Amino acid sequence: SVDVAWVVAWMKRSAQVISEHRVELITLDREIGDGDHGENMDRGFQAVLTKLDDLPAAATPGDVLKLVATTLISTVGGAAGPLYGTAYLKASGAVGAETALDGAALVALLTAARDGIVLRGKAEPGDKTMIDAWTPAVVAAETAQSSGAGETEILAAAAAAAEAGAVATEPLVARKGRASYLGERAIGHRDPGAQSTALLLRAAADVAA
Ligand code: ADP
Ligand code: MG
Ligand code: MG
Repeated sequence: SVDVAWVVAWMKRSAQVISEHRVELITLDREIGDGDHGENMDRGFQAVLTKLDDLPAAATPGDVLKLVATTLISTVGGAAGPLYGTAYLKASGAVGAETALDGAALVALLTAARDGIVLRGKAEPGDKTMIDAWTPAVVAAETAQSSGAGETEILAAAAAAAEAGAVATEPLVARKGRASYLGERAIGHRDPGAQSTALLLRAAADVAA
């Protein structure tokens, strides 16, 4: 199982990769949006890093996820802030007060995060949003877990599926968010939110490996 140290490491690694890929996310969002996704996400995760310094010693994985949620909601802005905020808030609820997360708990965490984004943003698979990275990640995690994979393999399967899902947004026309105003001009460009989701789920897998 994975514990609070894994969640904290996941969030620190998330802050690092979002910062490293800031310009890439800005470029993607400039192509089919307003160019602020890299800036928004980097600001949010740098705020998360600061908040993690004051984490109580008794914090559970759910406590950390809730702290991340409230921090992202108040600092990221745009469409992605409330969507990611809801994702981490629902993920926090899904793990409750558990201190050790087994495979089933990780699947529940990822599923709740995805469901929170859908509840908030009403996107369906194929709408060219972050859901196109989250949904294959959830499916891959479920499949891995039901075939007896351990936590590390479950997270690796989710990350790989999210990365493939982000790439698969390229040929799509957007039906949600700013990119939906572009019609067919969005074709050929990767969705920035799907790409940031792939980075965040890769971070989760990397710190478990
Ligand atoms: P904004 O578009 O307000 O500038 P961001 O640039 O931070 O916000 O985030 C844009 C990303 O948000 C998109 O690439 C897409 O993945 C995601 N997004 C936008 N609307 C929705 C929605 N309704 N459901 C899911 N994801 C969405
Ligand atoms: Mg934007
Ligand atoms: Mg914006």
